Amino acid sequence: MSAPYEIRGPKLPAIPLVLDSPHSGNRFPDDFGALVSQSELREGEDCFVDELYAGATEMGAPLLAALWPRTYLDPNRHAGDVDLDLIDGPWPWAYVPSGKARLGKALLWRTLEDGRPIYARRLSPEAVRARIERCHAPYHAAIRGLLDASVKRFGKVWHINCHSMRGTAGRQSEDGEGNVRADFVLGDRDGTTCDPGFTELVRRTLAGMGYSVKVNDPYKGVELVRAYSDPMAGRHSLQIEISKRLYMDEAALAKSAGFGRLQKDLTTLLEEIRKAL
Ligand SMILES: [Zn+2]
Repeated sequence: MSAPYEIRGPKLPAIPLVLDSPHSGNRFPDDFGALVSQSELREGEDCFVDELYAGATEMGAPLLAALWPRTYLDPNRHAGDVDLDLIDGPWPWAYVPSGKARLGKALLWRTLEDGRPIYARRLSPEAVRARIERCHAPYHAAIRGLLDASVKRFGKVWHINCHSMRGTAGRQSEDGEGNVRADFVLGDRDGTTCDPGFTELVRRTLAGMGYSVKVNDPYKGVELVRAYSDPMAGRHSLQIEISKRLYMDEAALAKSAGFGRLQKDLTTLLEEIRKAL
């Protein structure tokens, strides 16, 4: 695999706004070794999310996009959030469990949404370590670098961590199978990762466009909004989850007629954020 990520738009923030899309990649590394097909593994992908926010780059906000698939390694987990049921032998490095291993969705996914195993056998600790070094570490260094560059230049940064979610909860989802989700779910880890005014601005703007919006329910935000945020020091991170039913055919993994409107509305949202920076 070549470089594990791309920075779209300016390489340094021209305004104090940085976006990242950790789950929209679908370049499958040769050493994945999965038992199931690539299209099945793409159920974990936040398809086209990097494209939905393309308007950011023209405003001077860089967008960091992971290129590898999320099922291979999830950069929105702590590097120590290893699923011990996937490891052959003892795990010799830092172990920081989040509890997601029981759902098969820790740093490396163990199962698909329907519970089928992704691998035929356990992986060596060294193989998992290699994925961390090849994907997780450089991605985190890149997002940290962009956030730090904004703080250095502007004394602050507003970070949007961009995701999408199944329109309806699946079998392994924590909000209960069949639950129909809101159009958007904003996550600021219960008001700890950004100024509450930022969450409210995004909520109000999206609601004003006619979308249903929930805050911290069922998603509060995970590692990428937790790790580098510090609202008291001017570092604000907000996770935005978009329902896939707004813009794609989930079964066909294809854009739907709604894609263009949503992309336009997200550009309007970014304009509103820029005015408030
Ligand atoms: Zn995601």
